Amino acid sequence: MTYDEHTPDAGNHPEYAEMLVTDEWKAIIAGTPPAVIQQVYGLITDNMQELLTAYLHYLGTDPVLSKLLNTNEMRAKWTAVFEEWVYQLFSMQFSDVNHFVQEQHALGMKLSRVGYPAHSVSKSLRMINACILRHILMQAWTDQEKMQSVMYVNHLIGLSYEIRNHGYMQSISDQTRLDESYRLAVIGSNIAMERERQRAFLTEWERNILAWFYSPSDIGLPRLAKSEFGMWFLHKASLMFERTPKLQNIAECIAKIDQQILPKLETTQYDDRAAIGSQFQLIQQDLVKIKFVINEIFDSHIELDNARDSLTRLLNRRFIHTVLSREIALQKREGAVGFAILILDLDHFKTVNDSHGHAAGDMALQKVATLMTESVRPSDFVFRYGGEEMLLILVEADASTAMHVAENIRSKVAQARIQAPGGNSIALTVSIGGALAKGKIDYESVIAEADKALYQAKHAGRNRVMMSA
Ligand code: GH3
Ligand code: MG
Ligand code: MG
Repeated sequence: MTYDEHTPDAGNHPEYAEMLVTDEWKAIIAGTPPAVIQQVYGLITDNMQELLTAYLHYLGTDPVLSKLLNTNEMRAKWTAVFEEWVYQLFSMQFSDVNHFVQEQHALGMKLSRVGYPAHSVSKSLRMINACILRHILMQAWTDQEKMQSVMYVNHLIGLSYEIRNHGYMQSISDQTRLDESYRLAVIGSNIAMERERQRAFLTEWERNILAWFYSPSDIGLPRLAKSEFGMWFLHKASLMFERTPKLQNIAECIAKIDQQILPKLETTQYDDRAAIGSQFQLIQQDLVKIKFVINEIFDSHIELDNARDSLTRLLNRRFIHTVLSREIALQKREGAVGFAILILDLDHFKTVNDSHGHAAGDMALQKVATLMTESVRPSDFVFRYGGEEMLLILVEADASTAMHVAENIRSKVAQARIQAPGGNSIALTVSIGGALAKGKIDYESVIAEADKALYQAKHAGRNRVMMSA
């Protein structure tokens, strides 16, 4: 199955807007003399280099775009896509229009997803428009030809913008709705337990700091931001709770501990008890503050009916977009370790259902879900992706972490036995495909890579892990 079939976006067919644009588009092609269409196409071909140079220059100098596309390689790739688009736009046959309109709509959604600023969508189109018009006016064509060419170019670029913009805006509104429901889903998942867990992680971190002093090592003090609590806070808390200044208070406490107090402690003499004592007091004050704020935030969210998958209790797949958008944003930070995606599929699951019954199949799914949840860190995300497919997002994970987690899950499942209602003991295996984000700005391509790796794992005989190269 492809990811698109399941994205929340896929259900929203932009039929109405597409239909309007498509009809208008066809009318423009039909109403423009073929000779004019030919002339414009020739003119664009002759001046393509100038267009490309202008576009590339724009990508490199716009403050937002130059950050988004921060390598020459990325900018070259976008410029190549741009070139293809211009050629397509001005060589369109009647029969291509529907497809092209759909592509432009999808492109608009993608631009929104990767954080391409809205103003840049219109600005780049406006730039090309101006450039082409300038050249038309310089031609030795009749006034009527020039007029028809100008109208033709204006209309095509305008329509292209309209449909892209429609996709762009749709993606934003889908996203806003999802962000909200994601919060409800996560919040609903046993809020009291989550709060206690995070408080316990904080206490555990504090104990580790003390332990360091009893047996000091050359490795520095463990940083709070890198602890289980710190990871949860960075990756999950801001998704769970709407923007509140309280989160900022916690972030400040963490930064103060990690960047001011711990470095001081690391350079304090072991026998300088007074200095150590006063630094510890500072840490404790901050921890008390963090715990207090955590309590407050959790308390202000009453338990809501959650939108987890009812069979496996895993996160519902419709929140993948919310989580990955945030992870893409996080990985843009300097020195960030990107995320990894694993997709897991039960092997020969149809046979399990056929031989032992659907209820046994359901138990098997629950068992696999539990084993998966137990094998990842609290900051990771486990989704039910399809019927018997799960998707994991491992935050801050390199290749060896991803491989380790995947292999661990695979072997745990292979060793587990499910007690079927009829008394049978069922053995199971899973295949897993994985891929690393490695700085990509469109997470869908990471999912596609993991999907492909999964397919290879199946093809190679199942019960195995395959990572995308
Ligand atoms: P492969 O190793 O190639 O993945 O083989 P498979 O039999 O697992 O593949 P296939 O995708 O053909 O079968 C998936 C089966 O999973 C079919 C469907 O009936 C079953 N399934 C999907 N969702 C559920 C569920 O919620 N409960 C149960 N019991 N079965 C489910
Ligand atoms: Mg399947
Ligand atoms: Mg299967």
